[in-house]
Parts: sequence; C-alpha cells; structure tokens
Amino acid sequence: MPLPYTLLIDPLPADSPRTDFDATFQAVDADAPALRVAELSTQRGDGVFETLSVVNGHPQEVEPHLARLANSAAICDLPAPNAAQWRAAIDAAIRQLPAEGQLALKFVLSRGVEHGPAPTAWLHATAAPDYTDVRAHGVRVVTLDRGYARGVAERAPWLLMGAKTLSYAVNMAALREASWRGADDALFLTTDDYVMEGPTSSVVIRSGGEYVTPAPSGAILHGTTQQAMFDYLAGRGEQVVYRDIPADELRRADAAWLVSSVRLAVAITALDGHAFPVDQPLTDEVNAHLLARTA
Ligand code: PLP
Repeated sequence: MPLPYTLLIDPLPADSPRTDFDATFQAVDADAPALRVAELSTQRGDGVFETLSVVNGHPQEVEPHLARLANSAAICDLPAPNAAQWRAAIDAAIRQLPAEGQLALKFVLSRGVEHGPAPTAWLHATAAPDYTDVRAHGVRVVTLDRGYARGVAERAPWLLMGAKTLSYAVNMAALREASWRGADDALFLTTDDYVMEGPTSSVVIRSGGEYVTPAPSGAILHGTTQQAMFDYLAGRGEQVVYRDIPADELRRADAAWLVSSVRLAVAITALDGHAFPVDQPLTDEVNAHLLARTA
C-alpha cells in the first residue's frame, strides 16, 4: 500500500465486549475528503494524539503510547479509548505498510463533530524524515520561557498540561522562535527557571554521574523514548533519576539530549549560543539500541 496510509476508525467505548474490530476500520485515500468541516479537532484543536515510530515493520512502544493516549483523553475529559481496538488498528495498518524503513504512525482521538454523537478517530502513516544527520551531529538549542511556574498542572488543570492535545500551535511557534534565534530546537523552562521539555521532545541530562529527566509531574509529557532510554541506561548499570532540574544545572551538565519517538536521541551541541559538551558515542549507542527494538 502506498504512503501515506490512512485508516478512519469508528471508536468503540472502552468497555465494549467486541473483539473483532475489522468492520470499525476503513482505509481512505489520503487525498480524499475524510473529515467533516464541523470536526472539533480542526475547529478547536480539541482532541489528543500520539505519534509512534515503525521500524522495519515493528511498531515501537505501542503500550506506552496507548497508556499516554488514555491519560491524555482522561485529562481532556474525552471518552476513554478502547485499547484493544487501537492495538487492532495499528496491527491492521502494519499489515498494509512497507516492511522496511522507518515510518511515523500518528493516531488521533478527536471530540468529534460539534453537537455530534461520538468522538472521531483515525490513524495516518507517513514515511519518517531521514534523521540520520541530526542524530550524528546534534542540535543547537535555545531555552524559552513557557510562561508558567512549576506546579501549574496541579493548580490549573484546565490548561491541560501533560495531555498530548492536538493544539500544537504554541509548540510550533517555539520552533520558529528557535529558528529566528539561529538554533535548531527549543527547550521550555518554567517562569521559576526549571527545565520542562522540548516542543516535540523530552529532555535528558547527565549531571553528577546520573542521567536525569524532569519528574513527569503533570506539566510535561512522560516521553516514551525517554523511558526506553532510561531502561537501556539502567540495564547498563547507570543511575537514572526523575527530579526537578534547575536551569543552572542544565547549563552545567556534561551532556544533554532531546529525545522523541521518530527523531530518537539527538545531542544538544549548543545551548543559548554557547557550545555544549557532547557524548556522541553514547548518542550513537542509544540510537542503535532504539532502532533495533522490535516492540
Ligand atoms: N514532549 C512533547 C511536548 C512532545 O510533543 C513529545 C513527542 O512528540 C515528547 C515530549 C516526546 O515523547 P515521545 O518520546 O513519546 O515521542
């Protein structure tokens, strides 16, 4: 089946007794009209999504992505996704997709059509961009104020921090700001100067002999790639820690990475215009491990 490949999904309630889902999927031509104009995902960005990587026919970290989809749906007060149906949709797509190369598989759960009866859902697979170069040479990063203090998710749950919503306009604006400042990517800080995450990635630093990422308190996403990287490092006997990271500690770290499902781990080579130490052998090792996963 040529790429992109799109499957519309008729989302079932999480407690549906159904076990055969084939009739709830419909492949559509990616160029053909598929969504109604009153669709709230497009009208208001009101929905949640995940993007997972498929490497040589193997979808990566399906269960952590499904768990995060469910968490995002709960934060947004959307109907709980039916995990078995989503697993089946991913399997159905994989059977149609090329068995070689890297793909990005996005799946979306939207609140649906305004005043309509049900959420809408779809899955969309595309060829992944070639990130070989950026994995080998890293990214120049600028820190950007996210505009919220630490603890915002708990104080103001209506901001939907910690949910992977479709409203990525702010994240995309941050990437443009980074580009205007001569950098490749951005890293959000709280107003009280703690490290959060990138606009499309988690951050991992090495500091004092430990690999550290901000605690997934609710203000940031719990990255599936960061978890896979921590599992790998812990398996090598390294110390991996979740805790707050003051921006000063980031600036003094002896290595740092932005990590995400499709681009994988990329080293930070410059921070706010200053050269940053890079551990390229470890970056290569982590990426080789991530690319070799079969699940
Ligand atoms: N944080 C944000 C805001 C993201 O958009 C992403 C991925 O798109 C991540 C973190 C990394 O998550 P994952 O490793 O599961 O791709």
